[in-house]
Amino acid sequence: MDDLEALATALASAGLSEGIRRDHPIGPLTTYRVGGPASMFVRPADANELEAIVGAATACEVEILVVGLGSNLLVSDGGFAGLAVQLGAGFQSIGVSGEMVTAGGATSLPVLARRTVADGLTGFEWAVGVPGSLGGAVRMNAGGHGSDMASVLEEATTINLLTGVRRVRPVDSLALDYRTSDVGPADLVTSAVLRLEAAPDGAGEEILAGIVRWRRENQPGGRNAGSVFTNPPGDSAGRLIDAAGLRGHRYGSAVVSERHANFIQVDDGGSADDVGGLMDEVVRRVLDVHGIRLHAEIVMVGFRR
Ligand SMILES: Cc1cc2nc3c(=O)[nH]c(=O)nc-3n(C[C@H](O)[C@H](O)[C@H](O)COP(=O)(O)OP(=O)(O)OC[C@H]3O[C@@H](n4cnc5c(N)ncnc54)[C@H](O)[C@@H]3O)c2cc1C
Repeated sequence: MDDLEALATALASAGLSEGIRRDHPIGPLTTYRVGGPASMFVRPADANELEAIVGAATACEVEILVVGLGSNLLVSDGGFAGLAVQLGAGFQSIGVSGEMVTAGGATSLPVLARRTVADGLTGFEWAVGVPGSLGGAVRMNAGGHGSDMASVLEEATTINLLTGVRRVRPVDSLALDYRTSDVGPADLVTSAVLRLEAAPDGAGEEILAGIVRWRRENQPGGRNAGSVFTNPPGDSAGRLIDAAGLRGHRYGSAVVSERHANFIQVDDGGSADDVGGLMDEVVRRVLDVHGIRLHAEIVMVGFRR
């Protein structure tokens, strides 16, 4: 019996409310809405179901992919050969106590940003325009408008799906840096605590509205995953791509956004491999023109690179 079969057998007794899905399309769980299936997919509804999955996974050597809201993920058309795990509804709780906010790893960032403002807090408004989950934001050290997770995070609770080790990790232990952290592929952020500040009357609402307006005016819609490349030190990836003449450049079903050159959009029914192919072309051309190598910000799954 191979490892996936052994895992399926171990999971069968876990009593998961959504069951175990084989060859489950995970491309549609991403904001690109392209890409292939995961060999196995589970969505634990709550902490008990997650414990059962961890119990089963620790006995097997399979690759793990944690899927948040898929807003920074590109899954290849060939898919992912392993176990994909997405936290379910039981991980969307929000609790506010004074200036401390505790929320589940699956909580949507825009929902959380609006809730913190409604509760008279400031410091998390930037997240209203970032369509990810809190767990994904910790892993990516998401940020914008002059702030990021590192600036507001107090601690995150993680569980490693392959070892079963559960840790409450203070922000300083997470190695949060520009769109990176040391949260590994098998580490699942189940919840996090933010430390915010009391806002002067109505201040948060105003900041929130300004950010929503800015995003509407400056970012493209359609199928994308936000900024594709990280900004090199002292420059912006969008400027470099634009100056290399790539705005509007197309590769199959993928195109460099006319509105923001660091966004790549894909057509309805398009291909993840086209997005990957366009990324390769962009990297090559920017290197030729500027002598600078761009690095992917989006997390690419199932690509041979
Ligand atoms: C229109 C648009 C605008 C965006 N703007 C911004 C922006 O301003 N700033 C910014 O930083 N990002 C931005 N992004 C990117 C994205 O929203 C963030 O990176 C977000 O934090 C990703 O969260 P997610 O839940 O969607 O993660 P996913 O895309 O699902 O996953 C991303 C990574 O996080 C991991 N992960 C997901 N959930 C968990 C979890 N619970 N525990 C552990 N690991 C997990 C995944 O395994 C993967 O490695 C934008 C995206 C879009 C589509």
